[in-house]
Amino acid sequence: MLISIVAPCYNEEDVIELFHDQVQQVADRLLPLGHDMEFVYVDDGSRDRTLAALQRLADRDARVRYVSFSRNFGKEAALLAGLRHASGDCVVVMDADLQHPPELITRMVKLREDGYDQVIARRTRTGDRMTRTLTARLYYRIVNRLVDIELVDGVGDFRMLSRRVVDAVVNLSEYNRFSKGLFAWVGFPSTTFEYENAAREAGRSSWSFRGLLNYGLDGLLSFNNRPLRAALHLGMGLLVCAGLYTAWIVGAALVNGVQTPGYVTIITALTGLAGVQMIMLGVIGEYTGRIYYEVKRRPHFLVKATNVDRAKDLIP
Ligand code: UDP
Ligand code: MG
Repeated sequence: MLISIVAPCYNEEDVIELFHDQVQQVADRLLPLGHDMEFVYVDDGSRDRTLAALQRLADRDARVRYVSFSRNFGKEAALLAGLRHASGDCVVVMDADLQHPPELITRMVKLREDGYDQVIARRTRTGDRMTRTLTARLYYRIVNRLVDIELVDGVGDFRMLSRRVVDAVVNLSEYNRFSKGLFAWVGFPSTTFEYENAAREAGRSSWSFRGLLNYGLDGLLSFNNRPLRAALHLGMGLLVCAGLYTAWIVGAALVNGVQTPGYVTIITALTGLAGVQMIMLGVIGEYTGRIYYEVKRRPHFLVKATNVDRAKDLIP
C-alpha cells in the first residue's frame, strides 16, 4: 500500500523539518509491513522560508513532493492541492504543526486494513480553554440541528482516506470548501478513534476569533438552504402575529373609537421588524455571494513552484 501524507503548511519553517523527521520515523516502521510512503507538502503562500525548507527536504528525500502557491489561498485550497497531487492508495491528511501526532498513522493503517474508507482521529478537548470548549459544544449542538450532514466536535481534517474517498472529494469542485463537511458528505464506511490533544510545536495558530466565527458560519451555510427556510418560517410567523394584532386593534377601534397613543408600539414594531428584515437579507445575501463565487469558476489556487507534474493544476 502506498500512503500519501498530505500536509498544508503556512508559515511553518520552524516546524516542518521536525514534522518530516517524525513522519519519516513512522514510515520506517511501516516499510517492513509492506507500506510505502510519499509526502505531499503544500506551501500556502507562506511569508517565511517554508518553501526553501520544503525544497531542502525534497533534495534530501526523493519521496517529498511540494507545491507552492502564488499567495495565501487558505487551508482548504491547500488541502485540495495536496489531495490532487497525492498518488497513494490512501491518503493521510494532517496539519504540519505536529498537533496531529504522527504515531497515530500506524493505528490508522490497521483500521484501514479492516476495510474502513475513512479513519478519523477525533481530538479530546483537554488543555483547551473552557470558553473555547463550551462555544464548540454549543456550536455543534446548533449546527447539527440545522445541517443535513453530521458534524462532530473534535473531528477535523486529521484522517486517513481511501482512494475512492479522495477521488470523490477532489471531484467536488465547489469554490467554497468546508472540508470537514465535504468529508462527511462523501460518506463511505468510516470509523473514529480518540487521541489526546497536543499543543502546537512552534509558530502560532492562524485562527483569530473572527476567523473562527466565519468558519462556523461557513459550516452552517455550505450544506443546505435551511437558513433560507428558517427565514421564511420566521416571516410567516410574524405575518400571523401581525394579523392577530391588527384584528385586535381594529376591534378595539370599533368598540372604543380611535385613540391616538401608540408611539411605543409603533417604534418597537418598526425597529424590531427592520432588524428581522436585515437578518433575512443577510441570509439571502450570503447565498447570493456564494453563487457569485461559484459562477466565476476561478481556480482554487495558483502554483508558483513545484517539483511535480503541473497538469493537475489546470483542472478548474
Ligand atoms: N494553514 C494553511 N493555510 C492557512 C492557515 C493554515 O495551510 O491559511 C495550515 C497550517 O500550516 C497548519 C494547518 O493549516 O498545518 C492548521 O493551521 P493552524 O495550526 O493555524 O490551525 P489550528 O491547529 O489552530 O486549527
Ligand atoms: Mg494547529
